[in-house]
Amino acid sequence: MTGWRSDLDPGALEEAVTRLREAAHAGETVVLACHVSPDGDALGAMLALHLALVELGAVSIPTWGEEPLRVPAPYADLPGVDDVVATADLPQGFDLLVTLDAASEGRLGTVAPLLAGGVPTIVVDHHPTNTGFGDVRLVAPSAAATVTVVEELVRRMGVHVGREIATCLYVGLVTDTGRFSHANTDRAAMELGGRLMEAGAPHEELGRRLFETRSLGELQVLGLALSRVELVGDVALAHTYVDADELAEHGVGEDQLEGLVDLVRGVDVAEVAMVVKEAWDGWRVSMRSKGRVDVGAIAESLGGGGHAQAAGFTAAQGPPGVVDDVLACLRGGG
Ligand code: 5GP
Ligand code: MN
Repeated sequence: MTGWRSDLDPGALEEAVTRLREAAHAGETVVLACHVSPDGDALGAMLALHLALVELGAVSIPTWGEEPLRVPAPYADLPGVDDVVATADLPQGFDLLVTLDAASEGRLGTVAPLLAGGVPTIVVDHHPTNTGFGDVRLVAPSAAATVTVVEELVRRMGVHVGREIATCLYVGLVTDTGRFSHANTDRAAMELGGRLMEAGAPHEELGRRLFETRSLGELQVLGLALSRVELVGDVALAHTYVDADELAEHGVGEDQLEGLVDLVRGVDVAEVAMVVKEAWDGWRVSMRSKGRVDVGAIAESLGGGGHAQAAGFTAAQGPPGVVDDVLACLRGGG
């Protein structure tokens, strides 16, 4: 195996495929859980595997551990999305748990306690900061997206990647690679994109919906946040924030501002960008780097995680305190 595939333990891959196939053929119940505040990769990976499992005969239940469950608008039409069930409504007993794109148990929200229930857990992820939970682990830090690993799983399970599965996988791939432009974009990502296009993923329509469509309220909140970007010169940090009242006033969810941090990173002299958004459980912090600074390490030291160039964490305190903490990391050589 070459490239990202060499990150995987071949035995674990075989075991995951066997367990999933056996569960499906026996009509067992498989719960799939992606990380809270799901992005395109989390949802795409989960729903692609869900569609494959259903095709093989499993009772597959996709969920994520947050209440209320709200599917972000760009992903509202993804195939399989109507099958998503709130964690509180999961059946008492199930046979297998699969986590997707979740780097830690904490990122599973209210699903996390289920890990202690003795149900075998397969972990599918691509975060280098993955904490090592679960029984069968398919963690590939060199994979551009979690959907990369899911495609391999689905093919090995013997399921044909048709238009619906391809659509879910493509959404994960194109969002996590920033339209095939971030540092994680490699030949494998490009080739997967080509295969998915050929399988019927409507790339043009998805591109428009994912990257070029927003509500008026979202546009106005973006304007507000952009109008108060601040630059800290010595560490080349560009940062801004949005609070809950501002989001509510414009009818915008904290998770609807995915592209904001990339705009902030666009400041020519910035090396690091940060956006702090007030959410129901605290202040959610998104960080991006142009490559010189490892924001994954900074996020991890502040209780979160992620990748070297894209990472995040949740803080109890608001913007001034978060900025101070991040500046301390940056100035400490983080
Ligand atoms: P975003 O800023 O888009 O929410 O997240 C960027 C990257 O960091 C994603 O790969 C995401 O999964 C990861 N990430 C964001 N927040 C957290 C967190 O609180 N904990 C961990 N472990 N990873 C996070
Ligand atoms: Mn991902």
